[in-house]
Amino acid sequence: MKDRQNLAHADGIDLVTFGQQLRHLRRARGLTLTELGEAATPRISKWAVASRLRRIVLRVSPTWPLTCFYLHWSDGADLNALDDRVASGSAADGDFAGAVVGEALGMHHRACGAALRVVALDSVLPLFTNDVERSRAHVYQAACPACGEPWSASVLEFIGTT
Ligand SMILES: [Zn+2]
Repeated sequence: MKDRQNLAHADGIDLVTFGQQLRHLRRARGLTLTELGEAATPRISKWAVASRLRRIVLRVSPTWPLTCFYLHWSDGADLNALDDRVASGSAADGDFAGAVVGEALGMHHRACGAALRVVALDSVLPLFTNDVERSRAHVYQAACPACGEPWSASVLEFIGTT
């Protein structure tokens, strides 16, 4: 509980805590709302990307510490409304249909050398049963925010500099 609280207050991003371990999610063959153990904590975020990004905290393995990942939507979903539905317990699986899993990383842009903090597509954490289809349908960042040249990696959002 203590480390979860620390993660929850680490930044301004809204938090959805998964109450079950990932293996339970996998066993269920997809994300169901009964496994969203804690409600989101809606708050105003300093990040402009808050309209497309929500942080999730879960254990990848029962003996591992809580780890931070992100859910990202590129389909224009109203996440403030989703926060309200999660908080009230009325969200449905369809509310997460457009989401993919991301993780925060540091990346360098080869073209200009910019060192940027990004949330990039995570292809390892099998949170949804149709991850491949989701990742193909998703819209990624196309250009480096520093130089404007094409960015080829599967970046969901640029969130800062390193
Ligand atoms: Zn660049």
